[in-house]
Order: sequence, then C-alpha cells, then structure tokens
Amino acid sequence: MSNVVIIGGGAAGCFCAAELSRLHPDWSVSIFEAAPVLMAKLAVTGGGRCNITNTFEGVDSLAAVYPRGERLMKRLLHSFGPEDCLRWFGDRGVRFVVQDDGCVFPESQDAMQIVRTLERELRHGGVKVYCRRKVVSVDAELTVRYTDAAGEGSVKPDALIVTTGGGTSRILSDCGMELVPELPSLFTFKIDDSGLRGLMGTVVENVTLGLAGTRFRSSGTLLLTDWGVSGPATLKLSSYAARWLAENQYRATLLVNWLDGSEEEAMRLLGDRLSDGRLIANSHPSELTDRLWRVLVERAGIRPDARWSELGRKGLARLVSILTADTYEIIGRARFKEEFVTCGGVALSEVNPTTLESRSIPGLYLAGEVLDIDAITGGFNLQAAWSTAHTIAHSI
Ligand SMILES: Cc1cc2nc3c(=O)[nH]c(=O)nc-3n(C[C@H](O)[C@H](O)[C@H](O)COP(=O)(O)OP(=O)(O)OC[C@H]3O[C@@H](n4cnc5c(N)ncnc54)[C@H](O)[C@@H]3O)c2cc1C
Repeated sequence: MSNVVIIGGGAAGCFCAAELSRLHPDWSVSIFEAAPVLMAKLAVTGGGRCNITNTFEGVDSLAAVYPRGERLMKRLLHSFGPEDCLRWFGDRGVRFVVQDDGCVFPESQDAMQIVRTLERELRHGGVKVYCRRKVVSVDAELTVRYTDAAGEGSVKPDALIVTTGGGTSRILSDCGMELVPELPSLFTFKIDDSGLRGLMGTVVENVTLGLAGTRFRSSGTLLLTDWGVSGPATLKLSSYAARWLAENQYRATLLVNWLDGSEEEAMRLLGDRLSDGRLIANSHPSELTDRLWRVLVERAGIRPDARWSELGRKGLARLVSILTADTYEIIGRARFKEEFVTCGGVALSEVNPTTLESRSIPGLYLAGEVLDIDAITGGFNLQAAWSTAHTIAHSI
C-alpha cells in the first residue's frame, strides 16, 4: 500500500488522515475536499464550541442514542470510545470539560481548537490536501473522477476512503452498493395550535412525547417556540421517528405527557385538591409554569374562574387526561437552528464491521455520516466520526 486517497476533509476524513499518516509515515495520504477549507462544519459544531463526544454515563441502551448503527457502534466503541478520543486530543494539548448531561467540550469552548489540532497533525504527517476538488464519481475499480480549478481529472489510488458526510452517498451510485435513502434526522416540529405557540419560550423540564399510533416515545426537556415544539425531547423523537415521519409527510399527532407520570400519579397529585376553595387557574403543579397551566386548564374545558371544590370527578378526569395524554397536530418539520444530521447512506450490510472495508469492492472504505449511522444530539455523532475513522486507519 502506498497511495491512499480520502474523499471529504471533514471530521472523519481529517481524523483518519491524521492517524493514518502517523501510523504509516512512508505512505502517500491525500484528502480531496470540495469546499475551500477543511472541516468547515466541525468549526461550527456545538454552536462553535464543539460537543466532541459524550461520556455515555447513564446511557442504558446504545439504541437510544444511535437510532441507526447501534450494533456497529457497540463494536467500534470498544476499540475507540470516548476515553480514547479524549486521550488522543489530550495528548495533543486539548483539555476538556464535562457537562452534567455527559456532553464533552474543549475547555477553550472553541471548536477551532479541535480544527487546528487536526490541521497540525495533517501537516506533521505530510498529508496532501486538495481543497476545491469535488469528487463526481467513484467506481468499482477505485477510479475517482473529480473537478477542480484545472478542470476534470481522475486518479486510481491503492485504497480509497470515502468520508463525504450526510446526504452524499450518491457519488457511490456506480459502485453497486445498497444506499439507504437519505433523510433529515434532527429537527423540530411545526404545530397547528395557536394557544401553544403563544407560550413561546416556555421550558418544561420533564415531559414524555410520543407519536400517536406508533411506539416512538422520548422524554426530556421540551421548549415551546413560535412555530411549535423544540428542545431535547423533540429532537430525540425526530431522530427516532425520522423515517416514519418522512413517510407520513411530517404530519402526525403528537402525544404530550406534561407531567412525565402515569394517570394514577396525576390523579393522586391533583385529587387532594378537590376540597380546596382556591381557583384552579391559580394553583398549578410546580412542574408547570403559570401560563402553561392556564392554557391546559382551558384545553380541559374548565372555566378560568372555576374552583377546585367545583371541579368534581369528571372535571378531574378531563384535567388528568390533558396533563398526561394531550394531543397536538404536527403540520411539518422545522430545522433545529442550523443543525441537522442525515439518516441513511451506505447500508451497514455493505461493509465489514471490523475493518469498514466494502464487502464487494476491496480497497474501498467508508467512515462517518456517509454510512447509515446517526445519533441524537450530545456529541454522539462526532464520536461516530472518530470511531469509524480510527477503525479504518488501523485496519487498512
Ligand atoms: C451545525 C451543526 C452542528 C453540529 N454539532 C455537533 C456537535 O456539537 N456534536 C456532534 O457530535 N455532532 C454535531 N453535528 C453533527 C456532526 O457535525 C456530523 O455528524 C459530523 O461532522 C460528520 O462527520 P463527517 O466527517 O462524516 O462529515 P462532515 O463533517 O460533513 O464532512 C464531510 C466533508 O466531505 C466534503 N465533501 C462532501 N462531498 C464531497 C465531494 N463530492 N467531494 C469532495 N468533498 C466532499 C464536505 O465538504 C465536508 O467537508 C453538528 C452538525 C451540524 C450541521
């Protein structure tokens, strides 16, 4: 092996090139990058702070964080997991902080520190970087056709590593591999309810969300926005149900359990108040804000001037039903700031899980989001980029 080409100079491509050139200083390693600079996306990850990985503490099942690619990630995290990632960057001078939710960021709070660290490694390793070189196609003979400032060109390296990120697997359509249709994953929901949208900015710490008629459920913090719902619970649900929601044109009934508890628990919580002479609208459970409570009371068909002592068993049942099984119509998807991830890409059955080499085309390797792996937010997507890239650098 002497000549390796990596297509895509993002997180996975640059990490793979850095590690490969360290392990094999005598090889020629080149990166072909379509954009004017390397790692443009990495530079803006985590709102410019780069949520580089996650401690995975409290993650009971990998399927809950990797809706697609869970089994492969389980294997790869053994060989290159979050501690290995932090050690790799730590050995190169990066210090980290860990948030309560397990998200890890560089202490500098600056994604550019990660970019510069990788750039330095590429320079040390003598990696040849060709920016503004867009690969148009790859075939089963490993012929890479590209365009750049000089026009059209082609090369045929000894090994080819494709790390072009989400939504790009079509460059492999001449390779005869199974490509899973690519769709957005992390997004927020537009909701058809002016009452809820009027609560823009309200945060509810612990809700359970679901999609009616499915088993998709998520829990966590909910944020009400001027277009509908956002926050971690929504993003998680969008990731779990990405494919189903696309098939249903992003229309569905959203189930909201505002108290993240059972009907019985809600009954117990509120049942004690039935002899209370206070206004219902004025005494809300501590989990809910005053404004949200008033909207929910109205949704339960209860007069704003009604007192607890007037509510009765039927009224209580209506209120409990709204609190634990509220429903809203999703009328579309909205982007989560500028951040989204793609599900789909090269089917995982196409690669050897130990080496990430194509099963049908020897010498072709795939890493990062171009594979059908994607995660919820929290540093898990970048960890997938590091783990897959590291695997290839060590198996090639
Ligand atoms: C705004 C934003 C913030 C994010 N924040 C986080 C975060 O904090 N933590 C986290 O874990 N994940 C985050 N993600 C997700 C994470 O960035 C991606 O999962 C990760 O970058 C994927 O790495 P990759 O190397 O596979 O792809 P990319 O980083 O997308 O790199 C692919 C590269 O290939 C190049 N390319 C594409 N096609 C071609 C072609 N035909 N020829 C040549 N080059 C090509 C692209 O220009 C790009 O540079 C964020 C995503 C976004 C959009």
